[in-house]
Amino acid sequence: MLQRKYLFPQVIEMNYQAGRRLGVNVYLIDGGSEFLLIDIGYLDTTDEIIDLIRGMDFNLSDCKMIIATHADADHIQGIAHAREMLKTKVAAHPSTVEPLETGDEIMTYATIKAQDFSIPMPCCKVDLLLNEGDTIKVGTLELQVWHTPGHTAGQLSFKMGNLLFSGDNIYKDGCVGVIDAHHGSDLPEFIQSLQRISKDNAEFLLPSHGPVFRKDNRTLKKTIDRLTQYQYMADFGTCAIGWPLLDEWEKEVTAGKMPDFSKGTVK
Ligand SMILES: [Zn+2]
Repeated sequence: MLQRKYLFPQVIEMNYQAGRRLGVNVYLIDGGSEFLLIDIGYLDTTDEIIDLIRGMDFNLSDCKMIIATHADADHIQGIAHAREMLKTKVAAHPSTVEPLETGDEIMTYATIKAQDFSIPMPCCKVDLLLNEGDTIKVGTLELQVWHTPGHTAGQLSFKMGNLLFSGDNIYKDGCVGVIDAHHGSDLPEFIQSLQRISKDNAEFLLPSHGPVFRKDNRTLKKTIDRLTQYQYMADFGTCAIGWPLLDEWEKEVTAGKMPDFSKGTVK
């Protein structure tokens, strides 16, 4: 039997468990009599993850559900296969159902045509809907469901005691999940989700990528301030909610004012 490497009581993460980088973080919540998985990752690592779970002496039939934190291929490409192998249920937010059940290659980033990137995206039935305020019971444990949109419309996070499984909301270095209009990203909602995380009493954040870390509100504040700026920057296209430079320019044009090059010229 493989020794179980618990990160926290009753929490195993499969990259740490494997001792190598598999891909997205895959959390196993061990409720004693049953367990659940948060995300599963790419299809080509799914069997290895299932072997690890078996090797740690879990009964595969005790898997209560696999949760899709959202419908990005790097998180859920293997979920249909895992659902079959574990004979379990797949749970997701209502906004995640369509991309998951149709295997939407654009929404899931399985295909990025401009970068000549394409991987298969097997569609997967969603058996269980998770909404804000729901409680998931797994053995002796309870997870509170948080709907934290921003990166994508269906992004979920989960509070368990002093832990927050925080998805793609924020990583240890203060970076966040991709902001992209085609992906359903929403900057004001993203900021609200981050503010909620900041105000919460969770001690540790367990993100979907990279190291697990102690929640630090200074990092969160920097990230919130950065995203607040993004809302008014052309760099973020239709995800921005305004562009002050263009508003100013419009006023000048409407007033018949020509550009004045005398100000601010560096000689
Ligand atoms: Zn991600």
